[in-house]
Amino acid sequence: MKEVILVKYGEMALKGLNKGSFEDILIKQIKYRLRPLGRFGYQAAQSTIYIEPLEETIRLEDVIDRLQKVFGIATICRAAVCEKDFNDIREKAVSYLQETFEDIRTFKVEAKRADKHFPMKSPEICRELGGILNEAFPDVSVDVHDPEVTVMVDIRDTNAYVYAGKLRGAGGLPLGCSGKAMLLLSGGIDSPVAGYMMAKRGVSVTAIHFVSPPYTSDRARLKVEELAQKMTEYCGDIKFFCVPFTEIQEELKRRCPEEYFTILMRRLMMLIAQEIAKQEECSALITGESIGQVASQTMQAMVCTDAVCRIPVFRPCVGLDKTEIIEIARKIDTFDISIQPYEDCCTVFTPRHPKIRPRLDQIEQAQENGHFEEMIQRAVEGTESKLFRVIR
Ligand code: ATP
Ligand code: MG
Repeated sequence: MKEVILVKYGEMALKGLNKGSFEDILIKQIKYRLRPLGRFGYQAAQSTIYIEPLEETIRLEDVIDRLQKVFGIATICRAAVCEKDFNDIREKAVSYLQETFEDIRTFKVEAKRADKHFPMKSPEICRELGGILNEAFPDVSVDVHDPEVTVMVDIRDTNAYVYAGKLRGAGGLPLGCSGKAMLLLSGGIDSPVAGYMMAKRGVSVTAIHFVSPPYTSDRARLKVEELAQKMTEYCGDIKFFCVPFTEIQEELKRRCPEEYFTILMRRLMMLIAQEIAKQEECSALITGESIGQVASQTMQAMVCTDAVCRIPVFRPCVGLDKTEIIEIARKIDTFDISIQPYEDCCTVFTPRHPKIRPRLDQIEQAQENGHFEEMIQRAVEGTESKLFRVIR
């Protein structure tokens, strides 16, 4: 039986005037993700996108798999395509719903008529089809108040569609509709999750990673690249910047008090990141910090870090417990990569007794001791970039 996929969008349907452009971005995203699977026909109407596979070889399971990682989609349904004729609708409904009806006790029918010329009105369609299904599946009965399954009949311009049940989409807003930001991506568990959470709100993510060879290895860098590649499944294509940070870290170690090391390092990372963010037209930075998780992530530490930032720093994990972050990391499949044991430049020179409540004036004073301006410039100039594409 011929099937299509109906994609419904949630929240963005509420955005009134912007709806058109949200819908355009979403359709573009969907097309980009599905193109490797073959050719499809697309139609949009009433907060629903109708996706029709145009090649025999396309497997709907693969289509759904990809759609479930596209932000902006609230629900996904598979539907049988019927002629606009009640006889065809009833016949197809009975055979199409067979499997679904084996496992349930109660159902109801809802009908939607976009084509008002269809000879039956919605309540009549519901009544008739309800009766037919009841007869065909005697163990299942109608419950209009709290049915296990709602059978939908959707009468449109060229066809009618019958479907029951829905799958959850990725939610959020379509990628790119909320601008662009730069994620400070480490090899840890938190920053990939932070990137995912911002992407979910429609932000296109660019990634920046700091390395300190020879203190950090090639293998450690490859791990982070592997994370960036994995993140493309949800975040789309990711441009990845790799910053040489050795000179700055050595200068820090040489000239600044050890207890301020982590915060100074974070400030210098921010200074470099916002420089590159500006070149890339990113309007904000993103980190994986969570309040109180470690000494450098107290509120006072964040105040000291943000004092050097001229653009907003988003920390979407800030209110999450580690267990909650891990739950998301498992869902987006970055966890197993993150726990591979490779060093990060942050851990190379970890102070023995980091300052938990640093004072901004003291931090600023300490930073004066190093000669960082030119080093920052050199780090920016030495930065390499690479594009990670969604795997086809
Ligand atoms: P994560 O799990 O994301 O590494 P974490 O709990 O290990 O976080 P830190 O190592 O203190 O915490 O890092 C805090 C944040 O600083 C990270 O979430 C990330 O955004 C950024 N960061 C740390 N190291 C790097 C790095 N080498 N390159 C880019 N960003 C980094
Ligand atoms: Mg880390």
